[in-house]
Amino acid sequence: MSSKARLSPCDRVGILGGGQLGRMLATAGARLGLDVVIFDPQAGCPASRVAAETITAPYEDLEAVARFAKSVDAVTYEFENVPVETAAEAARHAPLRPGVQALEVAQDRFAEKSFLNQHTAPTVAFKPVESADDALAAVEAIGVPSVLKTRRFGYDGKGQAVVREAGAAGDAFVAISQQPAILEAFAPFVRELSVIAARSLDGQMLTYPLCENAHADGILRETRAPASVSPEIAAEAVRIAEAILTALDYVGVLAVELFELKDGRLLVNEIAPRVHNTGHWTEAACRVSQFEQHMRAVAGWALSDPAPIRRARMINLIGDDVEGWADWLANPRAVLTLYGKRQTRAGRKMGHVTVLED
Ligand code: AMP
Repeated sequence: MSSKARLSPCDRVGILGGGQLGRMLATAGARLGLDVVIFDPQAGCPASRVAAETITAPYEDLEAVARFAKSVDAVTYEFENVPVETAAEAARHAPLRPGVQALEVAQDRFAEKSFLNQHTAPTVAFKPVESADDALAAVEAIGVPSVLKTRRFGYDGKGQAVVREAGAAGDAFVAISQQPAILEAFAPFVRELSVIAARSLDGQMLTYPLCENAHADGILRETRAPASVSPEIAAEAVRIAEAILTALDYVGVLAVELFELKDGRLLVNEIAPRVHNTGHWTEAACRVSQFEQHMRAVAGWALSDPAPIRRARMINLIGDDVEGWADWLANPRAVLTLYGKRQTRAGRKMGHVTVLED
């Protein structure tokens, strides 16, 4: 490996994580002439089947992590629950983009919201909760309805309980298995939006237009983009994204999930230090996809214009939805992506389709 800031074509980029995001990043990397090396605990993971090379080992195997990082010119990650020690070990041997701090912030909801508020990104009110007594005190301070969430390892709505009356605080703490948590005020949002932004090694920042997202059972179902929003809301989203990117000295693509309130204010729900499901539409409908944008940044290269060419509706194919793949193939407005997962399970993201609109 070399520790040069800017990679050359045919250099090697390592990705920690080999799910569908790693697969789409590896494909984008290959288009740019980069060789992608995947590190994932699971043999035959989706990304391994499109990458130049794969290392199969647990994230805790720091010797394997060191070997992996020494064999590449830069390292990135495709999910935010890569252990911090794993990322830090990789960073000892190759430039890690984005860095370790982005993971630390994104892995703990209390650290995340504290960090966001410190850097002018507004969120709902929140309190840390370590016990049933804390939960009750937090509900008394914040009010109802509120949401109790585990601090760590929550995704797709897992590890969350809505508290509708103060007396239910203890039950909610039991419902999330009495783990360290935060209590959040319930955001009375009119829409869920997200913004996908990128920052280069030189500090250039570019932002895709806002996306409007619909969830069911805590899982993203559909994204429409660009969302129709006022210029003020669009500008506020860019301000928030740039504040976070700058504070983290970030290199790569970052997603910011937002609640839009009735009065037009935006609150940050959470950030993802990676390419994001709500940015998948960019591959079919923008000049440069979020995947290519991320790989450009990781390589230390110039970013490209994120302007959309078409309006788009991205639909996740979850569980059995994927059975409709042949119909989507036959639809001339649809761009289908399948993740190569051999087993279909309820709630599992199997692919997505982007329908291009006029
Ligand atoms: P999360 O795992 O934090 O992204 O939450 C998953 C989904 O739960 C969000 O997309 C929202 O629909 C909902 N949700 C989470 N937190 C809140 C909140 N504080 N107020 C209202 N809805 C929320």
